[in-house]
Amino acid sequence: MPVTAAAAEPAGDLTPYGGVEADSAWRDEVRRLAGERDAVLLAHNYQLPEIQDIADHTGDSLALSRIAAESDASTIVFCGVHFMAETAKILSPHKTVLIPDARAGCSLADSIDAAQLRAWKAEHPGAVVVSYVNTTAEVKAETDICCTSSNAVDVVASIPADREVLFLPDQFLGAHVKRETGRDNLHVWAGECHVHAGINGPELAARAAADPDADLFVHPECGCATSALYLAGEGVVPADQVKILSTGDMVTEARSTRARTVLVATEVGMLHQLRRAAPEVDFRAVNDRASCRYMKMITPAALLRSLREGADEVHVDPAVAERARGAVRRMIEIGKPGSGE
Ligand code: SF4
Repeated sequence: MPVTAAAAEPAGDLTPYGGVEADSAWRDEVRRLAGERDAVLLAHNYQLPEIQDIADHTGDSLALSRIAAESDASTIVFCGVHFMAETAKILSPHKTVLIPDARAGCSLADSIDAAQLRAWKAEHPGAVVVSYVNTTAEVKAETDICCTSSNAVDVVASIPADREVLFLPDQFLGAHVKRETGRDNLHVWAGECHVHAGINGPELAARAAADPDADLFVHPECGCATSALYLAGEGVVPADQVKILSTGDMVTEARSTRARTVLVATEVGMLHQLRRAAPEVDFRAVNDRASCRYMKMITPAALLRSLREGADEVHVDPAVAERARGAVRRMIEIGKPGSGE
């Protein structure tokens, strides 16, 4: 199982590590090395199926970070994108956190940096900053309250009506929150995820019209689904067929749905968990090109390299982590933290 690709790739190259089959020898070696490192393996729902299958836990970024914090393991191997591994480090500062490929970024998290946020705050002195969890540790450190898609409305509603709010980085989620809260003093950063741009209104409406009996599962956690969330709210697709569900609720709903076909508006990696939960249901992606290349950088070769070499270790400046942790804690204090999304 040699790791053959990308170790010496030039900076900026996003070619995934390759050359390793996800066979039984690989599985045995991954489990052996994880035991040797006292590591817990976490996989986001949008990971490759073979990575999800070998992980100790699958789920959304925040649920996984909480599992990591509660785990007895001294090392966390976070199979996801970089801001997620950072969030795990923020919540578990004394544990070693590894991501199998540190180049696995997020176009949504990259749409605003700390300097841009500081400049925006300077234009709106006294405003409350609300950041979606898809942000870097530095941006979280400049944030008053974090939010997930499922609690964003509650978080914004908890802020006194006369205070200005800066909402970032996702413009679709921001538009949804603005509509739901009716606030006109909520300013939205014009960020977006490159994957959700592929789930557009006409395509969503056409797929729903072609399958009139199908349920439509819309997953709000990742940026890829926020455009669908927005469109459902706008009535572009029939509201009674649209179910805005967290990951955990999506899997639960999959087990009890009477629909024979379910259209899934989110990153395609989610289909693996749904098909495992309800093999008799025909789950179809609204857009089968809605695949996050960053998520798919965590390959069998990358995971093997990570466990063999203790790479790539995630570091967050302790002072930044402390401030970022405050923003996450304030979200949890407000109520539903978005479990299982
Ligand atoms: S799907 Fe979009 S929001 Fe989610 S990790 Fe990939 S780039 Fe980021």
